[in-house]
Amino acid sequence: MVNAEIFDILKKVDFLKFLPESVLPELTNSCQRIKLSPNQVLFNEGDDGDFMFIVLSGELSVYKNKKEIDRPTPGGYFGEMALVNSKPRSATVKALVASELLVVNKEQFQSHFASSPAALMALMQTLSNHSRGNLDAAAKGHGKLQDRENLNALFRRVLDDAANEIYIYDESLDFMEVNRRSCDNLGYGEEELLGLSYADVAKGMCREKLEELLAPLKSGELAMIQRDGFHIRKDGSEYPVEMRIQMMQTETDPIFATVALDHTERKKMQEKIRVMALYDSLTGLPNRNLAIDRLDLATARALRNGDKSAVFLLGMDNFKTVNDSLGRKVGDKLLQAIGKRLVETLRREDTVARVGEEEFMIIIPSINKESRTARLAQKLLDGLSAPFGVGGHEIYVRFSMGISVFPSDGLDSQTLFANADAALHRAKEKGKSAFENYDPSMLARASRQLTLEGGMRKALERGEFRLHYQPKVDIHTGKIDGLEALIRWEHPKDGLMAPGLFIPAAEESRLIVPMGEWALNEACRQIKIWSDMGIPDVNVAVNLSGLQFAQDNLVDTVSKAVSDAGISTKNLELELTESILMENSQKAIARLAELNDLGVKISIDDFGTGYSSLMYLKIMPFHTLKIDRTFVNDVARKTDAEITKAIISLAQILDKKTVAEGVETVDQQNFLRRAGCDLIQGYLISKPLPAEDIPSLLKKLL
Ligand code: C2E
Ligand code: MG
Ligand code: MG
Repeated sequence: MVNAEIFDILKKVDFLKFLPESVLPELTNSCQRIKLSPNQVLFNEGDDGDFMFIVLSGELSVYKNKKEIDRPTPGGYFGEMALVNSKPRSATVKALVASELLVVNKEQFQSHFASSPAALMALMQTLSNHSRGNLDAAAKGHGKLQDRENLNALFRRVLDDAANEIYIYDESLDFMEVNRRSCDNLGYGEEELLGLSYADVAKGMCREKLEELLAPLKSGELAMIQRDGFHIRKDGSEYPVEMRIQMMQTETDPIFATVALDHTERKKMQEKIRVMALYDSLTGLPNRNLAIDRLDLATARALRNGDKSAVFLLGMDNFKTVNDSLGRKVGDKLLQAIGKRLVETLRREDTVARVGEEEFMIIIPSINKESRTARLAQKLLDGLSAPFGVGGHEIYVRFSMGISVFPSDGLDSQTLFANADAALHRAKEKGKSAFENYDPSMLARASRQLTLEGGMRKALERGEFRLHYQPKVDIHTGKIDGLEALIRWEHPKDGLMAPGLFIPAAEESRLIVPMGEWALNEACRQIKIWSDMGIPDVNVAVNLSGLQFAQDNLVDTVSKAVSDAGISTKNLELELTESILMENSQKAIARLAELNDLGVKISIDDFGTGYSSLMYLKIMPFHTLKIDRTFVNDVARKTDAEITKAIISLAQILDKKTVAEGVETVDQQNFLRRAGCDLIQGYLISKPLPAEDIPSLLKKLL
């Protein structure tokens, strides 16, 4: 139900009709809404409850001793008695059809109704109906103390509980009723005050002036008069108030009510209402209302920035068990601790909200990569997996999680919420701590990435990476010209893994940077070992990723690796793919020049697969072109043969050497020789081998 629909219904509620319009949105937002299914019992006779209910939709039945006494429909209300006398419910209420209710608690009631004289009067009337006319006598304005005795005791409670001053007086302005707050603020005793008139406490209001002020109420021109003024205490001092004056026509004379709102009190109350409306009282976290609001904000910003936002919905799987076995108090403390831990895990700009009994929602306003969503999900679940120490218990919680991402899973907060919820349900069905993306294929990708990433991190720490070396040989002499270092992962479970299986994930997580640095250092170390073994001048080529190439400290890293190992830079070669170099060619030229100055050689890897600009190729300082394997593979085919020949001639024009990658057959070798290729690398010569197998190979081919 949207707010406008609710306002229309609230306007039908008799004692709300008189309220200033601004109260309706406040009321709608601050009060909880509940849904009842057909035949659902809201409360039974004898139950406790400090709420009143306003029917927004549907139809209910109120009955006592099996006899129906009322059938509230939209605009109807019930339970208001509970707010003024905390006695058990005097009837049972059941929904006849699916219904929605607005729940008004005592605090909300006091702040919204007890500050409106008209609502008070309407309530007075309702109560008087309930208590069979007790109020009528008083309302007629006869007598004071004696009649007051007869005033409905319940009404007194409304008055006395109110945070505002309330004065009820007759046409002659003499007080008929004042509440406790009025006495306290003015410094009078109750009886003393009742002996006075409103003209005695309102500053600058003689009887004539007040009568003039009240005239529009009497004529029906205005329903309420609202004005700022001062009240005078018994000691003569004054204080500012906002007065709201309304009139009720009784059968005989009119009576008036002034509700005076102490400005400071009102501010406090407004803040309290705001907090109640937006925050969860148990954990102090934003509630569903505020979460939706933040999500709206996040998606609007993401849309503007072309960004993504993520919604995580976390549902605790074993909350009921904790509550049932350890009690509600422990359950509450646990929820607080969970909220705290979630907040600590996230950044300040992220929102952690409590949106259901055991459900938390997390909004990440800006997320640039899909994989970060999965990583965060895992981080959150990991964070919650450590036990919580609550009330002397060590409690392990299990959470399921549903994820939806803006804009792919929804463009508005409601859809994103609903889709995260759907994903949460799927995750719950799976059991155990799990998370689900709204798009299931994304989940598969993301979780693979996650597993890999975690594994690679550990592999770096534990030293599970290896370098294998593959020789490049002179096509004419068959002698080894150099080796290419190729990374391998000796996976504890999966065995030796080729880089194609983990390098993409390493790139995405940027782990490629430390990993590449390791490879660089390891290759330099190995060159030194071989040279110490008496094998002269082994040249080793190390592959560099684009991310490494973009590192500001790349040149330092390379020169440090060389000097740490105690080798000469001329034994080191770096392989960069064509696309890395062409992506940011201006910068690349400068970078290559620096590396060149160090004395390191450069190869352009996988040549032919990217889009090289001949202009740049002409001025880029590099030494070797490596013809991509795919062309070499298919040199039997005419076009590939022509392309290979063209690449070789290009290299010759540019005065660079060529290496053919992936040479597997003698035919390929012969073709390449005829075409003028300088070096070949491939299984025909040797597969990449562990370092310990290299010396014997070198002896054979050097
Ligand atoms: P690449 O630099 O083009 O390396 C050549 C690839 O071709 C190697 O695959 C090698 O084993 C394979 N190869 C060599 N001869 C033959 C052959 O005759 N037939 C076939 N079918 N394949 C052959 P590998 O080792 O799987 O490496 C794949 C890619 O992973 C490398 O391509 C390189 O781009 C990357 N890589 C390997 N090590 C590193 C590293 O330390 N850092 C970075 N950034 N990338 C690396
Ligand atoms: Mg390479
Ligand atoms: Mg290559």
